Amino acid sequence: MGKPAVFLDRDGVLNVEAGYIHQLEDLHLIPGVAKSLRQLNDQGIFCCLVSNQSGPARGYYPDSHVQALHQRLCRLLAQEAGAKLDALYYCPYLSPPEGGLDPAYTRWSTWRKPNTGMLVAAAWEHDLDLRHSFMVGDKATDVDMAHNAGCVGILVQTGFGDRVLVGDYQHHTKPDYIAKDLAVAVEWILQQL
Ligand SMILES: [Mg+2]
Repeated sequence: MGKPAVFLDRDGVLNVEAGYIHQLEDLHLIPGVAKSLRQLNDQGIFCCLVSNQSGPARGYYPDSHVQALHQRLCRLLAQEAGAKLDALYYCPYLSPPEGGLDPAYTRWSTWRKPNTGMLVAAAWEHDLDLRHSFMVGDKATDVDMAHNAGCVGILVQTGFGDRVLVGDYQHHTKPDYIAKDLAVAVEWILQQL
């Protein structure tokens, strides 16, 4: 049996939703996020980023820029609360109908949410039990991916979360839990484990 994990979306959950982030300095943590992640770290819970990042496929910036953004994210988390992500997965691919342009990254991918590829890869590589794992996101597609993989799906009201709840963004979804922000989501997760 694998171990439970907490999967975390990036934009609108860990950092402030700001569209496509072209400048590294424009990536800012949502207040309280680093401390909440540190709580999970202190409990020995595996924490894993899972993020759709279609910037490279859209020709907005190279894949190396996404990696630089993730380095900054990890540095801010460490500086603010000594918090860490145990693994980071992201999908740089996008299909042509969705707007993929750069041939190197333009294709349909099992990794693109709401497909489950990132969760399945993480489970294989880190011996995780998806049925007892949690996914925290701010979009309907985050909750859909969670349910597609048998995880508990939590919607936070930061980022696009509030708009999803009022039916103003993406589509209707049925999260297992709705949390004001990551701090509240983590409190609830710790009660379930
Ligand atoms: Mg998001």
